[in-house]
Amino acid sequence: MVINNEQAHKFFLEQGITHLFHANTLGTSCTFINAGGLLSRGCVERNGLFQTVQSSDTADKTFDVWNDIFLDSADLHSLFNRINFYGPVLFKIKVDILLSENLPELYVTKSNPRDWTVQETKNDHYFTNFDAFKRVYKPGKSFQEMLTLKNTFSPLPFEGYLEEIILDNPQRSLMINSAYKDVYQESYTILKNCMDNSPYNYNNVNITTRNCWPFCNCDDMYQETFESTIRKLFLKRALITNT
Ligand SMILES: [Zn+2]
Repeated sequence: MVINNEQAHKFFLEQGITHLFHANTLGTSCTFINAGGLLSRGCVERNGLFQTVQSSDTADKTFDVWNDIFLDSADLHSLFNRINFYGPVLFKIKVDILLSENLPELYVTKSNPRDWTVQETKNDHYFTNFDAFKRVYKPGKSFQEMLTLKNTFSPLPFEGYLEEIILDNPQRSLMINSAYKDVYQESYTILKNCMDNSPYNYNNVNITTRNCWPFCNCDDMYQETFESTIRKLFLKRALITNT
């Protein structure tokens, strides 16, 4: 079950994978920025920190992944030309994080936990050895295989590994603090303030506006998204329910 992190690092580099990715909402991302690293849902909860509700929360608890940190080996928005369902803020992290000190146990899922069933066993959910993973993994195509750091109780540090934060532009305007404002501009400002006021140093980390292909579906998807969901995805806690 446990995958050797050095083997995984070497393999990803051989496949041309230089970065891993984690997508989330803006509100939860600000919690990560203030903590100096990615946190599992369980760790955020235990520490009384803020995170937006995800539709996968119930499944995460049922299948014992509530304390795990998830990483993708691809930018799923760019791979599928659609929004990332976990949120519009994408942390782009050097694959070298797999060699970081005190890395929790690394597992690789065979599929997304939201598709798991209670009849299945752990062997159905996770690769049992690294060779089995290598046989099915296709760089730039595989997305079901998620790297998970099991049972984490502290942040997975950004320092030295977080290279860039990519932010979607939903091309929407909403009433924010009694004025009609561009959601992207507001979201960018919140993220930037969060980084500037954090106890951690993000001077070398840029926030980049996502650049999509003209045929990307994200624009249509964001236009069709309910205002309350846009608020949850792009605004900080205090503004999520404000109108
Ligand atoms: Zn797009």
